[in-house]
Amino acid sequence: MKPVHATLGPEERQRYLRQLAMADWSEEDQLKLKGLHVTVLGIGGAASSILNNLLLLGVGTVEVFDNDVVELSNLNRQFVHTVEHLGMSKAESFGIYARRLNPNVEVVAKQVRIDDTTCEKNLNPQTDVIIDTFDKWSFRFIVNRFAAERQIPYLLAGVVSNCFYTSLLRTPDTPCLSCLLGRFQRAAFGDSFQASIFPINILPLAALGSFSLAELIKYLKGGKPSNQFYFGSLYSMPQDIRFFSLFLSKHFRKISEQQGVHWGSEWTAEGITKVAISRDPDCPICGK
Ligand SMILES: [Zn+2]
Repeated sequence: MKPVHATLGPEERQRYLRQLAMADWSEEDQLKLKGLHVTVLGIGGAASSILNNLLLLGVGTVEVFDNDVVELSNLNRQFVHTVEHLGMSKAESFGIYARRLNPNVEVVAKQVRIDDTTCEKNLNPQTDVIIDTFDKWSFRFIVNRFAAERQIPYLLAGVVSNCFYTSLLRTPDTPCLSCLLGRFQRAAFGDSFQASIFPINILPLAALGSFSLAELIKYLKGGKPSNQFYFGSLYSMPQDIRFFSLFLSKHFRKISEQQGVHWGSEWTAEGITKVAISRDPDCPICGK
């Protein structure tokens, strides 16, 4: 976190009036937000809701990475892009959206693909949090390693069809991504599931934006991660859960079952499921 800015300007005080009026939200909290440098990976559907909330909340700096251009099939859910921006890079399109929504937030938007050759060169090791909305698991594991080695808080955020999931990870206080969802990290197998058109319901996206950033706010106020994994399911959809279950590590399955959460074909839950998480002692990234 950068040194907390001394004050809020008059425009900011007016803009954030309602949130500053909340009993559990002080000017000091608002200044902590203003001091944050947040890195967001991906400017798609999951990121739209998260980025929108970051802008509205009033974080200091948002640095975003996405290599794609805006396509018509994005517009049913990626609301930071508009029909006027078809063909434009998502980075540039988001920059325009962000300036209109909250010019107090500094936005650095880059059209860069983050992979094993570009990760170290492009990601800021001083960032306060990395929010990973990538839909490719192989990219996620590269970023997980980067964050875990530097003890940067890593906010996992994603959707699977009618469901969303999120967790704030910061080793060694929490597990890393590999401890929980590390089943396919050595092979591109995880990505091959996503080669065809990946089904996404738009409805879980807003919930993802709320639950993921609530974890960030709790961390900001309390100074430590909650060590919870949130899984939200709009309807009881066993096929979605079966698909998601493919990615779970043995360790995560075990700790889930100890808490009465059964992934896979036995799943019957609807609504929000919380699993208290712990490190896998055999994790190849953060174990032992
Ligand atoms: Zn780990």
